[in-house]
Amino acid sequence: MKIIQLPASLANKIAAGEVVERPASVVKELMENSIDAKSTWIKIDLVEAGLEEIKITDNGEGMSPEDCERAFLRHATSKIKYETDLFHIGTLGFRGEALASIASVSNLTIKTSLGEEAGTLLQLEGGEITHRDRSDARQGTEITVQQLFFNTPARLKYMKTLHTELGHITDVLNRIALANPSIRIEVTHNGKRLFQTTGSGDGRQVIANIYGMNVAKQMLAVEKRTLDFQIQGFVSKPELTRASRSYISIIINGRYIRSHALNHAITRAYHTLLPINRYPVAVLAIQMDPILVDVNVHPTKLEVRFSKEKELIEAIEVMIRDNFRKQTLIPEIKPKPTTEERKSVQHELDFNQWQKHVVPEPYKVNETMQIHETPVFEHKSITEELPNQIEQEIHIEQKEPKETPLPVQENSPQIEVEPQQRVPVMYPVGQVQGTYIIAQNEQGLYLIDQHAAQERIKYEFFKEKLGKTINESQELLIPLTFEFSKTEAIFIEKFKEEFEKVGLFFESFGHQTYIIRSHPTWFPKGFEIEIIQEMVEQIIQNEKINIEKLREEAAILMSCKRSIKANHYLNDKDMFRLLEDLRNTVDPFTCPHGRPIIIHFSSYDLEKMFKRVM
Ligand code: ADP
Ligand code: MG
Repeated sequence: MKIIQLPASLANKIAAGEVVERPASVVKELMENSIDAKSTWIKIDLVEAGLEEIKITDNGEGMSPEDCERAFLRHATSKIKYETDLFHIGTLGFRGEALASIASVSNLTIKTSLGEEAGTLLQLEGGEITHRDRSDARQGTEITVQQLFFNTPARLKYMKTLHTELGHITDVLNRIALANPSIRIEVTHNGKRLFQTTGSGDGRQVIANIYGMNVAKQMLAVEKRTLDFQIQGFVSKPELTRASRSYISIIINGRYIRSHALNHAITRAYHTLLPINRYPVAVLAIQMDPILVDVNVHPTKLEVRFSKEKELIEAIEVMIRDNFRKQTLIPEIKPKPTTEERKSVQHELDFNQWQKHVVPEPYKVNETMQIHETPVFEHKSITEELPNQIEQEIHIEQKEPKETPLPVQENSPQIEVEPQQRVPVMYPVGQVQGTYIIAQNEQGLYLIDQHAAQERIKYEFFKEKLGKTINESQELLIPLTFEFSKTEAIFIEKFKEEFEKVGLFFESFGHQTYIIRSHPTWFPKGFEIEIIQEMVEQIIQNEKINIEKLREEAAILMSCKRSIKANHYLNDKDMFRLLEDLRNTVDPFTCPHGRPIIIHFSSYDLEKMFKRVM
């Protein structure tokens, strides 16, 4: 006999809580039991989103007749014995509450066998055993939960629509499948297959089963080992983003958990590669000594506490960043150099060669020395003051739009000064690293991020253009095909009318595939797929579509994709044009993602930095 009933003293120490909240929690608990029983195959059959019936069949260890009866007592578990076991939890379950709680609010049938002799069959109604029998000897367990919450009408009333409940269940199953690529999982709903995984152990294949082939193809494999952690998984390339964090799955020792801090570490690793309010798709499986993680803090064990959280965060960030560094993620547009440019490059090279030969060894600039000699605090004070300076600048410009043009070079185009412009004319001096423009005027020195500047210009252009178009539909020559995840498909079915209201008609084409034959005319060319995906995400998030926000997102997408990237050579004329266009925007100070475009050093700042004034 394996199962013992915990003494009250220990039982009370275990954070108690309501484990059976909705059908999805039943599915979660039963799946976890099957996994703890070392199953390699689990089948889930649902009827009416689990409210009618949930049947879970596994090929795990099974139970003896005695254990099977004990399993339904409160705090009956085979997974821990002593208080100290709470610090080394290696199983998904440990509280011994689930079966008792589920049985108490349903009609439950269990068939289980160790595979040696005849198995056991028990029937329970509202937690009371009503029938005992023998069952077949197939090794494993089959639990059927019927009429969930039949005796707790208040709980039943709390249930949302079948769609919502099914959505919760698929979410639970998705995460469990992602956490267990070596278990074959088969799911049906009302007799129809919902999804299945192969149990091949290949994480990317599970991602394909759940999020579709397109997503799986855009995932990068990541791995890192530190003294305490072994991290393994997949993160999306920065171009594949989602509007919510719910596509991030973190698995600790085989358990899917929610962690704000770790989610944050993942998104932070992308740094500026992600547009604002966009999130990656990620699945990270982390192995660590169970002593380092406390799973006994949350009733459904979804939240955990780490003793080395800082180190874990650091490891995740470094792992993802290093991986990105290894990949060329941003396609860089390298312009063909003109003969003149080539000449100047040649000159540079010659100059370096010359220096190498002429400058005697001891006089060479030692980089480390240089850093030590420069007073660090000066750099610091400059950067810290910047945001304020920009703000002051805005303020001053709005109050007194004074224009003091500098001597204009002969070939510079003449410009007319409009009083509403928030930035005075800036004259390009040059370009740094093909990325930043240095400009000046009487008010000082400016550093401009050319990519961010162009994003802003294009964004305002597209936003106005998109805002003007009307909601007419346009037929497509070649229909668009979409492969959605099960959750997405459920929402598409549920909110078909919402989509149709805004001019989008999803035509079902096999179970997770949909066809779009026409779309509203305002969709910008080349961005149809992104906008449709955005709509689906809006529906999942808010259950409604916000056209204004979509247009905004579309404008950001277009401005970002069509802007000049870093490392792009601009001649004086290009630079001047860009600075002029920037001055004419409504908001020239930040790009659509909120990053700064212009950094200004006033003449006074410059003098102060060089100690010309004190
Ligand atoms: P816990 O999982 O916290 O131990 P449960 O109430 O979920 O508590 O289950 C009680 C016990 O029943 C488990 O400890 C386990 O020994 C046994 N059990 C439950 N489900 C299965 C299963 N599918 N296969 C084998 N044993 C099971
Ligand atoms: Mg359990």
